[in-house]
Amino acid sequence: MINGSNKIGYQESSESTQVTYAFEATTLKTLPEAFHTATTKEVNTAVEKAKLAFGVYRKTSPRQRAHFLRLIADEIEALGSELIQRAMAESGLPEGRVTGERGRTTGQLRLFADLVEEGSWVDAVIDPAMPDRKPLPRLDIRRMLVPVGPVVVFTASNFPLAFSTAGGDTASALAAGNPVIIKAHESHLGTNELVATAILRAAEKSGMPDGVFSSLNSMGYEVGSQLVMHDDVASVAFTGSYRGGKALFDLAQKRKNPIPVFAEMGSINPVFVLPQAVQERGVALAQELAGSITLGVGQFCTNPGLIIAIDTPEARQFCEALAKAIETTQYGIMLNEGIRTNFEQKVRHLSSIDPVTLLGASLNEQLPHTVRATVATVSGSDFLEHPHLREEVFGPFSLVVLCADRLEMEAVATDLEGQLTATLMTGDDDDLYVGKLFDLLTQKVGRILFDGVPTGVEVGHAMHHGGPFPATTDSRFTSVGTKAILRFVRPVAYQRVPAALLPDALKDENPLGIWRKVNGIFTKDPL
Ligand code: NAP
Repeated sequence: MINGSNKIGYQESSESTQVTYAFEATTLKTLPEAFHTATTKEVNTAVEKAKLAFGVYRKTSPRQRAHFLRLIADEIEALGSELIQRAMAESGLPEGRVTGERGRTTGQLRLFADLVEEGSWVDAVIDPAMPDRKPLPRLDIRRMLVPVGPVVVFTASNFPLAFSTAGGDTASALAAGNPVIIKAHESHLGTNELVATAILRAAEKSGMPDGVFSSLNSMGYEVGSQLVMHDDVASVAFTGSYRGGKALFDLAQKRKNPIPVFAEMGSINPVFVLPQAVQERGVALAQELAGSITLGVGQFCTNPGLIIAIDTPEARQFCEALAKAIETTQYGIMLNEGIRTNFEQKVRHLSSIDPVTLLGASLNEQLPHTVRATVATVSGSDFLEHPHLREEVFGPFSLVVLCADRLEMEAVATDLEGQLTATLMTGDDDDLYVGKLFDLLTQKVGRILFDGVPTGVEVGHAMHHGGPFPATTDSRFTSVGTKAILRFVRPVAYQRVPAALLPDALKDENPLGIWRKVNGIFTKDPL
């Protein structure tokens, strides 16, 4: 049952009289439960508990952690329709999407359980001693990854489950051996509480220490800022706006002990539709892209916000087909009023820039929180002249840039800032374009795609969901897939450490049976 309390480890706490309420996204009606904002004392207690829990949790065996992660997945499933209904009410997302997102969330948890249980992710490297090496002997040095300490996770407005309380950030931080403190997003406070309770039930059942998980509510930025500034917080994960992510990143750098903030922020995910592709299948591409632009009412960080083509008669037909496909889509319910207002202001602003021409928009809005999917166009030269046109419009919007020629298209690619993705839609005879664009774009993005849409991010071992600034604050790391665990670990080298003190992953006998690099060669053999 939702009671609006903060979860400070195993303790429920509602010290503050300052409360906030969740909203029903489709009606804007306030939901009944009052959520208590965490006080400074509650913030400090959550971090203190996480610090103490870290001492125990980081020493849990891979099997214990895997068991904990699997139990979290089971407990989330056991919430059944209560969770689905609550997430739908708070987000306005349809049942199919929320159910799918729950599957993604539990799938992610189980994937990390498998990763931890298999064990080789710790990247164990052993250079055994060479006492007879000339001119100097080599000392025994072994190295592996260890957890960093308490991780603060800001849940994301646009994924109430998969990028939130038990989402990829939490799953990867817990898998690595770190306690997690959630800063709940006000867009889905009830959903957060249900999932937080499921995590705590799993923690209790698997004998995890008090403080391995906490969840805090807030009104405004104070709780989030206090968490980021707390001396004992070791790392931060964030998904949201550029403004929010950069503010938290800057805050963390002002600490006396600066820490990493892994912020995944805005991206316009350019799609280059090459001339032969337009000629061969322009109408089909327009429909495919319209589907991607309006998927989840465009509220995906991988939404294709920019489409670039060469200005040909076929490209004009492609624009017409895109406009037609957009015009026939339904109005969409946005996640919250802030996001809706932001979308409308940005579309209005972009449309008011002189060279931008409206191509089409979906049906009139009919409900609160709804918006019209919109597509507009601009010439390549005007795009290059107006820096505002590169800004993300979060929601169902895309700008088609029609370039005079290949050189202008390459200039647009060169001009782009860091992105999560870039896509090349190619035809049989587009080789003249592909080589240069491929080279330019791989320097700008975290994921490059051919002949597909950027929405829909596979959770797997090879996925990279990140990209150069301003897409993220650290292009070396992903927030999706098993490599996301690398954000919350650090390497330690163990030099001439006595055998009894070495972690299992580095012991001569290789008791965990993991892959290790010994003398530069991967092996599972004991030393
Ligand atoms: P947001 O405004 O960036 O907020 C995300 C979280 O960070 C919230 O919990 C927020 O607290 C907190 N926060 C933001 N700025 C802060 C600061 N200066 N100090 C401390 N905490 C701070 O994102 P949002 O609310 O999800 O949506 C707003 C806009 O973000 C959207 O319109 C869209 O442009 C963008 N967005 C982008 C993505 C993406 O994947 N790229 C995803 C979602 C949203 P409060 O809850 O108190 O506000």
